[in-house]
Amino acid sequence: MDNCLFCKIIKGDIPSAKVYEDEYCYAFRDINPQAPVHVLLVPKMHVANMAEVSLLPQDAQTALFAAIGKIAAQEKLENGFRVVSNCGPDACQSVHHLHIHILGGRQMAESMA
Ligand code: AMP
Repeated sequence: MDNCLFCKIIKGDIPSAKVYEDEYCYAFRDINPQAPVHVLLVPKMHVANMAEVSLLPQDAQTALFAAIGKIAAQEKLENGFRVVSNCGPDACQSVHHLHIHILGGRQMAESMA
């Protein structure tokens, strides 16, 4: 997608603080972190959000979900972490390339809304 911010980050056209990469996924630090660790995990193939995750090939879906635990271990989040994926306007999704927020490094609020 020519005009997608995260596609440009994946291609290296826009700089990012890379945390993890494999054949199907890329992860980088959120520019406006909401926790001591705030990583964005994205599939390299462009899909809009979690409602479209089934459009990814099965191997890419598996890699995406497997990457969460790898990143959490790499970031030493052994005490826990939160995974969030905003999907659509009611969830305030602002970048329309599927991304999974991985948040940790502090006690999270009980409320998720
Ligand atoms: P969302 O609101 O769920 O769509 O999340 C988009 C996230 O992308 C926000 O947390 C932003 O801080 C983050 N973001 C936007 N631009 C960049 C960038 N250039 N590098 C890293 N994170 C970014």
